[in-house]
Amino acid sequence: IPEYHSIPFYRNQQRIILRNCGVINPECIEEYIGRGGYQGLTKALFEMDPESVIEEIKRSGLRGRGGGGFPTGLKWQFARNAPGNPKYVICNADEGDPGAFMDRSILEGDPHSVLEGMIIAGYAIGAQKGFIYCRAEYPLAIKRLNIAIEQGKRMGCLGKNILGSDFSFDIEVKEGAGAFVCGEETALIASIEGKRGEPRPRPPFPAERGLWGKPTNINNVKSYAAVAQIIQKGAEWFSSIGTKDSPGTAVFALTGKVKNTGLLEIPMGTTLGEIVFDIGGGINKDRKFKAVQTGGPLGGCLSSEFLNLPVDFDSLVSAGALMGSGGMIVVDETTCMVELARFFLQFSVAESCGQCTPCRVGGKKLLEILERITRGEGKMEDLVMIEDISRTMKEGSLCALGQGTPNPVLATLRFFRDEYEAHIVDKRCPAGVCSKLSAS
Ligand code: SF4
Repeated sequence: IPEYHSIPFYRNQQRIILRNCGVINPECIEEYIGRGGYQGLTKALFEMDPESVIEEIKRSGLRGRGGGGFPTGLKWQFARNAPGNPKYVICNADEGDPGAFMDRSILEGDPHSVLEGMIIAGYAIGAQKGFIYCRAEYPLAIKRLNIAIEQGKRMGCLGKNILGSDFSFDIEVKEGAGAFVCGEETALIASIEGKRGEPRPRPPFPAERGLWGKPTNINNVKSYAAVAQIIQKGAEWFSSIGTKDSPGTAVFALTGKVKNTGLLEIPMGTTLGEIVFDIGGGINKDRKFKAVQTGGPLGGCLSSEFLNLPVDFDSLVSAGALMGSGGMIVVDETTCMVELARFFLQFSVAESCGQCTPCRVGGKKLLEILERITRGEGKMEDLVMIEDISRTMKEGSLCALGQGTPNPVLATLRFFRDEYEAHIVDKRCPAGVCSKLSAS
């Protein structure tokens, strides 16, 4: 769509995963096919054996877009090699970060791209059944997925003997009840099995023992949405985009205090400053940029000294932040970083499943401290206590939720310690947000 590129928000974007969103009618399989849909599946089934499909995904360098960044081809290889049958394919569509709507937009705007990626994954690992675990708060996504599944079956792209081949694969949508912890893959599997959505220790990993104890491949919505394009256009095409260790594109939901908010897709390696100022158009009312929160409630913030940082899996980790699944919240000088950390902490504490003590108790203790500080009742010893509790949570929690809960507090403490000290020592909130404290 050439006119997209005359609009500043779209000028520096490269849309691969979002290629059809807003372009086709998502309830019309013919429009998807008209833009090259199901060609990747056709190529996989009739020109490639399962091993060469896995090899192609490996060579493309695709890494898990759910946030972990694990090599997708390797994950598929593990599931294919694991003994036991039947095998399963799961799409993790349990997006729950505040401010994140990437997966939702893909499911609502281009459901067939996710189905096609899942069918190719099923062929590659030797599975005949797939599940999409989607939160019930996404009714339009669920409706469109079910329409797409029916259409896929009608057109022979899904179900028995796909496109006349001897490969059969079916997909079912499972609705989640909106627990953030069910985005963790072992909790998600337990939920599909009808059990409480609680994480379990790993290993064994789902590739070896997943759904109903059978080898299972789980990927995120965005990962599956990229697969058909990779098979169709080749691993070299995909790996020529982005950086050497993080090929391809990244999808972000850009929100917060920028002029242009929305869903964007950029080559990996685009700098944080280009995202905030070129694509986002800079800060609202030309206020001063303060930070970007990436990786959702388990991620961290990046201050202005990171505006030249290339945004890719490894650069973000080395800067102490996380790619996460793609939420990016921009804050300006009117945001209190202590209150921001308290907000994310409150979210994670409420979402803890409570089965292990460091997460259940540690999170509540951290929240109590942050609440005290924002009320002007904090002490300098609290800062030491924050670091101690955080260490225990990171070392002793079973899953990423407990391990990551302290991250927003630690990141804000690292870059904005002066704001914590102003709240504690001067009883002052520099951003003028905490109502019990003076603003200056
Ligand atoms: Fe549950 Fe927290 Fe333990 Fe994860 S770390 S299993 S969310 S209590």
